[in-house]
Amino acid sequence: MPVKIDTVIKMMNQYFNESTAESWDNTGLVCGDINAEVTNVITCVDITKDVLTTAQTQGANLIIAHHPLAMKPFLPITPYTAKGSLIWQAVKHDIALYCAHTNVDIAEKGLCYQGARKLGLTNIVSYGTDRTYKKLILTYPGTLEEEVHDLLEEFGALSPVTVAYGDKNRTEATIAEERCNNLANRLHRLAVDINIYTLDNARSDLFSFALGDITPSDAETFVERVKDIFDLKTVHIGGNLNKQIRKVAFCSGAGKSFLPQVIRSGADAYVTGDIGHHDFQTAYEAGILLVDATHYGTEKPFSTMIKQLLIDEIPELNERVFSLCQNDYFSTYK
Ligand SMILES: [Zn+2]
Repeated sequence: MPVKIDTVIKMMNQYFNESTAESWDNTGLVCGDINAEVTNVITCVDITKDVLTTAQTQGANLIIAHHPLAMKPFLPITPYTAKGSLIWQAVKHDIALYCAHTNVDIAEKGLCYQGARKLGLTNIVSYGTDRTYKKLILTYPGTLEEEVHDLLEEFGALSPVTVAYGDKNRTEATIAEERCNNLANRLHRLAVDINIYTLDNARSDLFSFALGDITPSDAETFVERVKDIFDLKTVHIGGNLNKQIRKVAFCSGAGKSFLPQVIRSGADAYVTGDIGHHDFQTAYEAGILLVDATHYGTEKPFSTMIKQLLIDEIPELNERVFSLCQNDYFSTYK
């Protein structure tokens, strides 16, 4: 049976809801006709010229990538800029581009969780999600329903429920605290009556990083395990190199902003990518082992993970999904 691109995107949203992406992120459809039938699909971490060429040779009209081309939507799209030319080429060849980024990192079955499982962690818990949410109760004329719902969607509000009474509507929704003020300003311009309540519960089901137990080992054995599991020739390590490793935190991609929370969590080791001088210094002072398994190294499982999900959920795509193994953009010179 033919499968529409829209069907694939809806399935992705069931597992990795776009509204759970970080506010600074640019997850979702970049370009393409969602009503077109899928020919073949490419899954990859980064959209590059090589990926587009491969899509053409494989007859793929959908590319599902992890990284957005830019964190903010950008215009104009012309063939004369680095990122614009990729979109230009995709549109010219009827290839849809779809990015699933931080919503995949933090999801229940996402990259943080899967990475923690690959490392052999047990008793895995989501951790470090200090995102707090606000509850909104909106009252407004029923004629504004579409505009209000469009705004809620634009700001990634969760679970909107609307009840009509007379000529008025009452809508309840949940919104990440950092987006609440901007949304409220836009709603005020529509003359919507707004009540805002603080929710105590942070979204503990989302993984800023995963924390779990591991069979105790010394630091060297643990680092060798990380290299093996993520298939890396080298890793950068720092902090306490004599630490006994029992509890491990993992964050795919660039997770250094979570280092203070990782230290407070009681982890003996933290594995992530894009670690810098001051992060290793912080780990040293805190007495934990810090392993930089590189940004790409910790995210490259994305391609095979999404391929498997597509085949499991949409069997018609069996043998029509190609996961690309890309090279890192840098290596260690010995
Ligand atoms: Zn990344």
